[in-house]
Amino acid sequence: MNPFENAINLLERAAKKANINNFEVLKHPKRIINVRVPLRRDDGKVVFFEGYRVQYNDARGPTKGGIRFHPKVDLNEVKALAFWMTIKNAVVDLPYGGAKGGVAINPKELSERELEQVSRNFIKEIHPFVGPNKDIPAPDVYTNDQIMAWMLDEFEKINAGSYPGMITGKPLDIGGSKGRAYSTALGGVFVLEEALKEFNVGKRVAIQGFGNAGANMAKFLHDKGFKIIAVSDSKGGIYNKNGLDIEKVIEIKQKTGSVVNYSDAKKITNEEVLELETDILIPAALENQITKENADKIKAKIIAELANGPVSFEADEILSKKGTIIIPDVLFNAGGVTVSYFEWVQNLYGYYWSEDEVNQRLKEKMTTAFNELLKIHDKYNCNLRDAAYILAMQRVLEAEKKRGYI
Ligand code: GLU
Repeated sequence: MNPFENAINLLERAAKKANINNFEVLKHPKRIINVRVPLRRDDGKVVFFEGYRVQYNDARGPTKGGIRFHPKVDLNEVKALAFWMTIKNAVVDLPYGGAKGGVAINPKELSERELEQVSRNFIKEIHPFVGPNKDIPAPDVYTNDQIMAWMLDEFEKINAGSYPGMITGKPLDIGGSKGRAYSTALGGVFVLEEALKEFNVGKRVAIQGFGNAGANMAKFLHDKGFKIIAVSDSKGGIYNKNGLDIEKVIEIKQKTGSVVNYSDAKKITNEEVLELETDILIPAALENQITKENADKIKAKIIAELANGPVSFEADEILSKKGTIIIPDVLFNAGGVTVSYFEWVQNLYGYYWSEDEVNQRLKEKMTTAFNELLKIHDKYNCNLRDAAYILAMQRVLEAEKKRGYI
């Protein structure tokens, strides 16, 4: 099952639970942009990559979602991710639709100059379709604030003006927001703290993925007294049942490029991280990590999805039956886009907030959304993912109706 079929299955299951019938519009992306992205390599040769931007739904406002650079990017993945952005933005009640972009490229194989050129060239191709009131990109897997800066600069050159609200996740110096860099993780922390009031499990945590979201999550939870027993990155994982020294793991990752070079732990595989005896499992890497092949082997009591789509539809069914609590991606990782929204608001106002103000507002958004999901979970006797999809469907379909589309 590809990620998009997966996503639509989840939508249909939730619609059935709440008896929602008019959701056909949510099964189709509104607009798909497919471009070729040229790059002149350092050796002078010109090569081309596939680039996509899927604008899934804009009933609630301009479309919004990140851009990923990854060799495995394809249209079905970008469609699924754009669909999930639509659900996510509605769950946390942002005045946005959903979108996602991607370029099928491995940025780790590019020089700095090549990376800048790919970033600028992608914007050159999609510029008529993006802008502060149309579609607002942001970072995602293997993209960062520097890439956002190049993209903004390219857009502003083409349009001969200043448009800081055209993209979010920018460096602070050119209109970024305080708190945006770690907001995906912090949003998750707020939700997890709220969830633990409801579902009382222990404090052992395993994290798969050590990029921006995973590493910040490890640090926040470690500082709050959780025991991080395992982490991993694309090169493998490390495990110590007594807990890892996260400051040190971050240092090793920065110095050597991988967590596997940390010495005071057993080396394990990425798959083994998922199957550990732990209270909380946080997948923070890519889609489809937990599938029907390994769902039975998962021992965690709570799975908190910091990645987008880490649990397949079939695995979700198996785990839900088993009683595993899944805090769904469309809520758990929504802190990133929430602070992106704050960044955009600050850009449009031209007035900037303190870090405390950003984090306080983030906390309010995340805890409100979690408690709304709990109410739906009680009302329909469904899991939290169904609750999120039901809430999002109600909001998006209401906007579709008011616009006269359905
Ligand atoms: N890429 C992030 C996500 O998947 C952030 C999107 C945004 O800030 O627009 O939610």
